[in-house]
Amino acid sequence: MKKVLEKYKGFIIDLDGVVYLDKKPLPHSKKFISKLLTLDKKYVFLTNDSSLSPDEYCKLLSSEDIQCKKGQVINPINNFINLIKIGKIVNKNIMVFASTNLKNYLVKSDINILEKYEDYKKAESIIVSGNVNFSYKDLMYASLCVQNGAKLFATSTDNSYPTKMGNVPATGSIIAAILKTFNTKVINLGKPSKSIFSLALKELGTNKAETITLGDNLVTDIQGARRNGVDSALILTGKTNKRSIKNFIFKPNYVYENLKI
Ligand SMILES: [Mg+2]
Repeated sequence: MKKVLEKYKGFIIDLDGVVYLDKKPLPHSKKFISKLLTLDKKYVFLTNDSSLSPDEYCKLLSSEDIQCKKGQVINPINNFINLIKIGKIVNKNIMVFASTNLKNYLVKSDINILEKYEDYKKAESIIVSGNVNFSYKDLMYASLCVQNGAKLFATSTDNSYPTKMGNVPATGSIIAAILKTFNTKVINLGKPSKSIFSLALKELGTNKAETITLGDNLVTDIQGARRNGVDSALILTGKTNKRSIKNFIFKPNYVYENLKI
């Protein structure tokens, strides 16, 4: 880790499997973040998890003594809001299929949301984010929206995520169900998409050559970094073990057991 700390100015850090696991900090993460602050490095947390709003992730980190300022957590929702701000998505008639927390965050961010399912014909864009309250009615109206021409945005395309019980459906599985009803283009707002890495770099204010991504996921973190011209370090405290690197085309620049300095 010392080499990485010396070489890079900007750090794009994944949360789950790197900083914490089951929302509890992993052993070396607190010290690592403190070190970044001492060395005056820039960092953002970049997560595909959209079960909470970015502000809530920030509060969660702060409550565990991991320094996080407002705006320092970026998730696919920020990417959606930013794409609206820069004029890539029209801020009109957006239907949201996400948790109440996320919906409220979008409303607070002045996103023009269609509140009633019955307005599906008016929808110009929809955003789908897996959550425990996602219902058949959501699936039905999301499918009807895209059939009527709405653009389909997904907070991630991961099919499942691990829990203590086993793997359970993530946003990608819900998207697959919508596509079974009506096949259309899916715009992924999460990692490894170009737009979310561009946003992270913009927030950091560092250039690509002086920035590194730290992540535990080969597909989202390492592939995303490589495709966006950013170096990467695979951290082995989450999803991936050393053996799986061999079979993956996008290789990380560094591999570390954990965030120990
Ligand atoms: Mg992760």
